[in-house]
This record gives sequence, C-alpha cells and structure tokens, in this order.
Amino acid sequence: MSFSAVQAALSGLRSCQEDIGTSMDMVIDVAMDLVESNETEHSSSLGTLQAKILEYAELDREINCFSNIVEQFNSEVSQQSPEALFSLSDRVKEQFDAKMASLSDAELHNHQKVVAFKEGVGSALQPENGEAEDNQDEDIALTQRYVNFTCPLTQGDMENPMKNKVCNHYYDEGAILAMIKARHKQHKKFRCPVVGCENINVTQADLVPDLLLKRRIQKRNASQV
Ligand SMILES: [Zn+2]
Repeated sequence: MSFSAVQAALSGLRSCQEDIGTSMDMVIDVAMDLVESNETEHSSSLGTLQAKILEYAELDREINCFSNIVEQFNSEVSQQSPEALFSLSDRVKEQFDAKMASLSDAELHNHQKVVAFKEGVGSALQPENGEAEDNQDEDIALTQRYVNFTCPLTQGDMENPMKNKVCNHYYDEGAILAMIKARHKQHKKFRCPVVGCENINVTQADLVPDLLLKRRIQKRNASQV
C-alpha cells in the first residue's frame, strides 16, 4: 500500500459520498412529491423513505469516519519508517470499529439532509405510535404556512427559503446569511426582521432549508411564465 494509493482510495470514497448526497436529494424529492400529491395514505410511504434516507446517512457517516481515521494515520505514517505501514491497516480497522461502536442511531437524525427531509415532509410524516392529527387542521396549517413567499429582508420572492427553528419565520438564504455575517462582524446580534418578532438573536445554526416551500415557489413561478 503506497501513499498515492491511499490518496486515490480516499478521493474515490469522496466521490462515492457525492453520489450518496445526490441519492438523498432524490429521496427528499420523491417525499416532497408525495406530500404535494396530498394523498391521505402516504404516511407509510414516507416512513419507508425516511428509513431509506437514514440508511444513506449512516453510509455517509461511515465513510466520513473511515476517511478521517485514514487521513489522520496518513499524516502520521508519512513521517515514519516503512515498517510502520505493516500494522497500519489493523490499526485503522481497530479505530474504525471503536469509533463506529461509539455512535448512536439517534445521531443520524442530525444529518443535514435527514433534517431537510423531516422539515420538508413536516407533519405529513406521523410518528409510528403517535396520535394521528386531524387532517383538516393540517391543511389549514399548510395553507397558512405558505401564504407568503416574500422575504422580509429583500421584499422579493424567496429563492432558497430558510426557516428559523426558533421563531418559525422565513427568509431567503442569501439575504439572511449576509445580514447575520455583517452584524456579527460588528460584534452585534442580528434581530429577526419580521415585525413583532421577539427573537433578538438569529444565528445561522437556527436556520434550516424549507425544500417544500422552495418547490412551491418554483412551481408558482413556472405557472406564471
Ligand atoms: Zn422571527
């Protein structure tokens, strides 16, 4: 095993991760279609899709974990004698197994794309043992949620709507990130720009993409052309 072979293997894994990311985006897309089709019986299909996206998240995490360990050893080994290489694969495996054993399934739900999936399907995905919500309420909530496509910062339609998990307000991604950055540069907090909102400290970590809303805006725009 040579140094360049390791690098090649690592970059192979990275392109594999890109494919996983694309697959996850596709799962999200299918889920959004289901949600938009408004079929009442879709929640079991959404459950299947969620299981799928969690599988991808696990694979993604495994590759991350493996690549990190290999990279770490790589920098170490390049300064050592060739003999050190012989025990390397055993040591990588050992560390990898230990790291994987320390990870929980619950953490997979924090994967960026799993979060996006859940935000996208929203209340359409009901917890397996949870109480079913009243469908009518859900429809009203959805309508209210999507009445406004306007970003409070740009006053134009949002292109990449981001939802603030703290106060549930929406902004366009580019505008909100620029504002937060500008304020933080002055060592100031950024207050939510929505009139009447009491959230005085909006941070990037509070923001999640709302893919369903993005699709609705895109569809509306397409129908207007
Ligand atoms: Zn707000």
